[in-house]
Amino acid sequence: MPDEIRRQRGTNDDNPPIGADPYTEFLSHDLPAYVGLPSFQKLPLLDDAALAGQRPDVAIVGAPYDEGTSHRPGARFGPNAIRAATYHSGSVNSLQMSIQPFEWLDVVDAGDAPVVPTNPDRAHEVIGRKVAAVLASGAIPIVLGGDHSVTLPAASAVAAHLGGRSLGIVHFDAHADTAATTWGSLRSHGTPMRRLIESGAVAGRNFVQVGLRGYWPPPETLEWMEANGLRSHFMTEIETRGAEAVVADAIAEALDGPDVVYLSVDIDVLDPGMAPGTGTPEPGGLLSRELLRAIRQVVMAVELAGMDVVEVSPAYDVAEITAAAANRCVMEALSSLAARRRDAGQVPRKSWPGLE
Ligand code: MN
Ligand code: MN
Repeated sequence: MPDEIRRQRGTNDDNPPIGADPYTEFLSHDLPAYVGLPSFQKLPLLDDAALAGQRPDVAIVGAPYDEGTSHRPGARFGPNAIRAATYHSGSVNSLQMSIQPFEWLDVVDAGDAPVVPTNPDRAHEVIGRKVAAVLASGAIPIVLGGDHSVTLPAASAVAAHLGGRSLGIVHFDAHADTAATTWGSLRSHGTPMRRLIESGAVAGRNFVQVGLRGYWPPPETLEWMEANGLRSHFMTEIETRGAEAVVADAIAEALDGPDVVYLSVDIDVLDPGMAPGTGTPEPGGLLSRELLRAIRQVVMAVELAGMDVVEVSPAYDVAEITAAAANRCVMEALSSLAARRRDAGQVPRKSWPGLE
């Protein structure tokens, strides 16, 4: 950390409080994680107008919607659980990437899309608009779900924002999410990937899945996927070849034509032993360390256009381990985005919100 920033900022570690009064002068960002209103990593909470003025590098968006679930509901409570699932505040330091991400990136929490229950069309519309507002501010959106249906409006908004460039999608999940319908409904957490391909938001051949396993989808859905060129890497392939080699292939396939990548992480790609707090747990999944490494691998290799982490259902969680894993999925992406800036020869930020 540059000395001038270190002197200005209180931190939760080796620095005294700033200012004259040691009993009042910690910044909100540096107070303990459990103190005060929750925002992601205690980062500044900005409304859409402030977002447009500040033009941050990355904005966290909550998508508290779970009426697309086919089995256990509850992911509407995921965004705030992921925000709360940290014991750090202040200028955190990634030991994996040897970088303090918030010294390099202006990251804010843009709050939640204004979802109300019982109206799926409205929910998806306001999620899409919220992501579009983040994109209009120049920030990369990172969406906290919510069930996986929220990827439809989120990735659609990203695709619509690209101008002439095209999108590849890397999708970590136990499930393909490519059903034609779920009990007749087009909008569910089992259908978003088919809708994205049908709409042309992403070409089937650049839609790449990692971690599929279990007993779904049926053969006719797999036939549709094959006919549309999807590349799907089953868990059995990871067991044989290892996650790193499979993820390297997935990156190459997503970028086989496109310029940028949207990364969608269904937390149920993890083994339920490491992520029980989800709606459709499927035994035999990735280790947390494999997924976190995979996220670093992807974000270091591509231009990230957007990301989501979905399907955290806190009521089924145990000791917040699922929410903590989801929080770290986001942190690994942020640290990797910061490391790309460092590696490109850029300089750290000179000031923090409230310190200018
Ligand atoms: Mn999914
Ligand atoms: Mn899933």
